[in-house]
Amino acid sequence: MSLIIQKFGGSSVADAERVMNVANIVANTYREGNDVIVVVSAQGDTTDDLIAKAEEINPRHSKREMDQLLAAGEQISISLLAMALEKLRIPVISLLGWQAGFNTSSAYTMARIKKIDTERVRSELDKNKVIVVAGFQGINKYDDITTLGRGGSDTSAVALAAALHADKCQIFTDVEGIYTTDPRKVPGAKKLAEITYDEMLELATLGAQVLNNRSVEMAKKYNVELEVLSSLNPVPGTIVKEAAKMEKMLIRGVTKDTDVARISVLRLEDKPGVAFKLFDRLAAKKINVDIILQSAGRRGTKDITFTVNEANAELARECIMDCFPDIDPENVIVDKNIAKVSVVGAGMETHPGTASRMFDALYSNAINIDMISTSEIKISVLVEEEVADKALSAVHAEFFPED
Ligand code: ASP
Ligand code: MG
Repeated sequence: MSLIIQKFGGSSVADAERVMNVANIVANTYREGNDVIVVVSAQGDTTDDLIAKAEEINPRHSKREMDQLLAAGEQISISLLAMALEKLRIPVISLLGWQAGFNTSSAYTMARIKKIDTERVRSELDKNKVIVVAGFQGINKYDDITTLGRGGSDTSAVALAAALHADKCQIFTDVEGIYTTDPRKVPGAKKLAEITYDEMLELATLGAQVLNNRSVEMAKKYNVELEVLSSLNPVPGTIVKEAAKMEKMLIRGVTKDTDVARISVLRLEDKPGVAFKLFDRLAAKKINVDIILQSAGRRGTKDITFTVNEANAELARECIMDCFPDIDPENVIVDKNIAKVSVVGAGMETHPGTASRMFDALYSNAINIDMISTSEIKISVLVEEEVADKALSAVHAEFFPED
């Protein structure tokens, strides 16, 4: 007998029919003789709708009341799913985050799980019950409800799996797994049988929105093997696990991110401390900087170019003007018409030539590379946003040719 955690996202429990479908998946797992704990998100767009209601009444609401409100979304879905399981004659109990022992930090709307008191959950398992737990929520030291940040129920599921040393943590969603690239954009996208935690983290930050990043970090830390699979189509999904247990693939996936702005600061004085001053100011404003490039100094000046999220572009411009009050505004160039295309794979650490294959694919399609950055398991290039989809397809076809 195994202990299996099954997490279902909002689209998987969006309406009565889908809730019954989930109940059947859970019931089958239980009838096979397993202990099952289910973690669910709020139905469909419930969380977005609740946020809109709060904005309508008072855009300057407190975060405490926001969490009090948002936790209601998951309360609805756990009770409905429990009723669906009752209908199938499965012994079941639903638990809110605090009832399931989720203790969190006190930061409302972005709390972190500190520890899970597993007593209640264990005693319900001993009674042979299926437990349906509200994801995304917990309780802080003031006995107030907290939530974990958008998409937080993946993290709830992984944290439970870690705390209970579960045998499996299955994340059910509306896609069949993790793909080599976005299947909606590139017809040749292939589903991966497995992927390492590090590769998944790179893909997730690069815009493959399947698993919440924090949940992958936690899974890596506590070595929780994840399976991402579809609640609508019962075929094997993608396993996310430790690198040591699997074959290194040269390239695991290709991604595109259009939420990128490039900022160039031209003709800065070429002296020590200039870069420090600028990036220190950006960090103080909590602006995350991705790619950085500095030109070699010439005739006493140098240029610095970097990228940020589009939402931070204007704030970054202000930081630059504050740092260098004498700068000619014409020398600060902000370009949002930029996208980042990346290849990710743990195998490139040991295989030279990945970069040149990527650049060749772009060159063959007459796509100009604007900036390049690399890490051990990733190569990213910046291109114009208009050609981003073409670049994505070209690079994907190079590493994953149609068979
Ligand atoms: N319901 C929450 C949200 O929409 C948590 C989750 O879905 O994971 O962000
Ligand atoms: Mg852009």
